[in-house]
Order: sequence, then C-alpha cells, then structure tokens
Amino acid sequence: MVSGVAKITDYDIVIAGGGMVGASLALQLSHHSQQQLRILVVENFPIATEADAIPNYHSTFDARTTALSYSSQLILQPLGVWPMLQQHFTSIDRIHVSERGRLGSTTLRPDDVNWPALGYVIENAWLGSVLLSALREKNNIEFLAPATVKNISPQQQGVKLTIEQDASEKIINAQLAVIADGANSGLREQLGIAAKVHSYQQTALIANVSFTKAHNGCAYERFTDQGPIALLPLNDSELGQPRAALVWSLPNTEAQYLCDCDQQEFLHRLQQRFGHRQGEFIRVGDRFSYPLTLIEAEEQVRSGIVVMGNAAHSLHPVAGQGFNLALRDCARLTQIVVKAYQNKQALGELVLLQSYQQQQQFDQQKTITFSDQLPTLFTRDQWPLSLLRGVGLGVLDIAPLLKTQFIHHAAGVHDGAATGHH
Ligand SMILES: Cc1cc2nc3c(=O)[nH]c(=O)nc-3n(C[C@H](O)[C@H](O)[C@H](O)COP(=O)(O)OP(=O)(O)OC[C@H]3O[C@@H](n4cnc5c(N)ncnc54)[C@H](O)[C@@H]3O)c2cc1C
Repeated sequence: MVSGVAKITDYDIVIAGGGMVGASLALQLSHHSQQQLRILVVENFPIATEADAIPNYHSTFDARTTALSYSSQLILQPLGVWPMLQQHFTSIDRIHVSERGRLGSTTLRPDDVNWPALGYVIENAWLGSVLLSALREKNNIEFLAPATVKNISPQQQGVKLTIEQDASEKIINAQLAVIADGANSGLREQLGIAAKVHSYQQTALIANVSFTKAHNGCAYERFTDQGPIALLPLNDSELGQPRAALVWSLPNTEAQYLCDCDQQEFLHRLQQRFGHRQGEFIRVGDRFSYPLTLIEAEEQVRSGIVVMGNAAHSLHPVAGQGFNLALRDCARLTQIVVKAYQNKQALGELVLLQSYQQQQQFDQQKTITFSDQLPTLFTRDQWPLSLLRGVGLGVLDIAPLLKTQFIHHAAGVHDGAATGHH
C-alpha cells in the first residue's frame, strides 16, 4: 500500500536500475566529474547500500559469468576497481575457434594484438559486488534499494520521477533520467518507446563445468550444426578441479532436455558435442536457460532521457558483447555529460543526447551485427557457406592482419570506440 507523496530535493542524474550497467555508469560519472555530479541510483532488488558493506567472494559452482574485453579493461582501470576485480578473474590467454566435424580451426593469442590478455572471465556476483562497494564509497552517489522507479515524465526542463520505497512514494526532479532497468524494461514501455524483438528460436544453456585437463587460460568457441558452444576459463573449483563457464546455444527442445536430464547424460552429450580437448567432463553445476532474442529499443534518447544497457540493446550472449558494449556506451555518455556539466549546460538537452547517440551508433551497429551473424552463420547448412567457413578459419590462422582485425572487432577496439579516457 502506498501512503503519502513527499517532494524531495533534486539530482543532476537519476539512474533507474542498479544492475551491472547502472552501477558502472554511476561510477564513471562520479569519477570523471571529480565527484561533482549529484547522482541517485534506484534499484528494485534488496542490496546492502550502507558504506561499510564489504564485497564478499565465494568460489561457488553455480555463478553466472561475464567475459570482459580489452576495451572494458581500458574503461574500468581508471575507476580504481581493477585490482579488486583481478583478485578473482581468470585471464583469457588463448581462444581456440573450431567447427565440429571440420578441420578448419584457429587459435587467437594476445601476442597477435600486443595486449596483456584477450579478455578476463569474472563471476557476475564478484563483478557486481566490487562495483557496488566502489559506488558506496562515493560521496556524490546516493543509492536507494529496494526501491522502484514507477514513472518518468518529461518536464519543460528535465524530468520528474515517481519512486516507490517502503510503501510510500517520492517525487524527484532531475536534469537527466537514465533507464537501465534491463531487457524487459518496464520504463521503456511506460514511455511508449517501442522495441524490435527478434527471436533466434534457440536457447542458451548456461552452467559451470569441471574437467580433467588444466585449461591454462584457454577459451573455446566451437561451432556445431545445432549452435555454438563457448567455454570460458575460470579459477579451479573448491575441489581443485579445472573449471569453466559454459554458454551452449541449442534448439529450444534440446536445451529443455539437457536442462532436465541427469548429470551423467548431460556430461555425455556435452563430451560428444565438444570433444576431448579438455579431457573428460566430470561435473556440472546448476543449469540455467535463456531464450535467445535480440532486443533493440527504437529510440535511445529523448529530451531528459537516455535508455542504456539491456534496455537499449540486448544481444545474443555467445560473442560475449552485451556488457562490454554497454560499458563503451557509458564511457561515451560520461564524456558528453561531464563536458556539458563543466560548461554549465543543461544535461538533458536533446541535442546533447542526440550527439551521444550519433557517436555511439557506429559501435552499436558493428557490435550488434557481429553478435547477430557470428552464431547464425555456422548453423546454416548450405555447402557454399560451409566451404567459406572451413577456408575462413584456416585463412585466419595464416593471415595475421585478418586475425588482428577479427580480435579488435570481437573486443570492441576500433576507430571511434569510447575508451573512458578524457
Ligand atoms: C547467458 C548470458 C551470458 C552473458 N555473457 C556476457 C559476457 O560474457 N560478456 C558481456 O559483455 N555480456 C554478457 N552478457 C550480457 C550482460 O549480462 C548484459 O549486457 C548485462 O547484464 C546488462 O545489464 P543491465 O544492467 O543493462 O541489465 P540487468 O542486469 O537486467 O539490470 C537491470 C536492473 O534494473 C533493476 N530494475 C528493473 N526495473 C526497475 C525499476 N523500475 N526501478 C528500479 N530498478 C529496476 C533490476 O532489479 C536489475 O537489477 C551475457 C548475458 C547472458 C544472458
């Protein structure tokens, strides 16, 4: 039951959604404005908001993971969170790309591009925990949780937000509202912003698995006629077994069967599809399934409003691009907003927000196309395509320039991509 409506003070920016994207944006805005911007983060989910809550880590068997790319490293390092993330992430030192039933394969290495690693695999629980603890230390960020942004309405200047917490409502005025409430964004819908939804008619099965051979930092992208399998290296399980995060795209009924069947049957099927490069698969944790869809908001900016993260674009997870792209979006928005703040410009001005969208359009389109085409290219069983695939992977292995371009592309490092440097 909602009781009473109170008017409270203004903020420069209110972020609706304190998920990985909302929290990262708040940190970037705070850091690059020298803690000057007044920021409010509102999160639905009950999480500790007090300043002395410390991040905790358990090497659980069932956690979800994210592969951070080199572009994300460039953005996160200046924020001071990297040493803490480093405590529990695993560097990707090689990526082995292959196709089941064909000889063509290639191995990508950091030396191909002169980077320290091709990426870093981190459990979402630890990534989230580190971001939130950094956020709590910032004097210019207020954090409301559990609380819900019920409504956003544009005003002549800025926006008015209705926030519900502890069964009462607050009205808050801000210069800029950022919608970061996830793929099924209720606020996008409330504002009448349409979204294009494309179903891949596939499901991603996610689980952590153990096997007998050490991975030595090797990640795998293996294409099969049913869909791609990604295996991302993690630190060893509490039993000392080599461990990895599995993202396995499958036809819906097959995914359902593999989610429900017993462990032995699951490991047997995985072994059949993946092969023996990591020895024998010996254990699987809880299995989760995600229907694969591409969701794109038809508008990302309005006067006083920006839509970000999964609410703006939710991608096929196999190429591991969603969060990495969102971080680059956040870096770009931060550059533009901080500059406007320093020039005493209104932060919600439409032209300003349109310039953000224009500058990110190329990166977004490039990344979305890459994520979209990578998995489907390998599921179409037409002979010219399969020929191209076999030749393609082989060519990648002997043509260093192509390989470098492929890695840059996959890591979101290309001309015009936001890096977080000012
Ligand atoms: C299986 C899988 C694997 C992936 N792997 C990778 C990877 O390796 N690399 C990568 O870059 N990306 C990866 N991604 C993508 C990545 O997970 C997403 O890009 C990222 O989680 C998006 O975060 P978000 O903050 O936009 O949305 P969410 O994580 O959905 O967060 C939204 C938040 O908003 C809150 N909220 C909702 N409504 C309201 C409201 N009205 N008021 C207040 N709060 C609200 C919710 O409680 C939630 O915390 C993967 C995705 C999947 C599904």
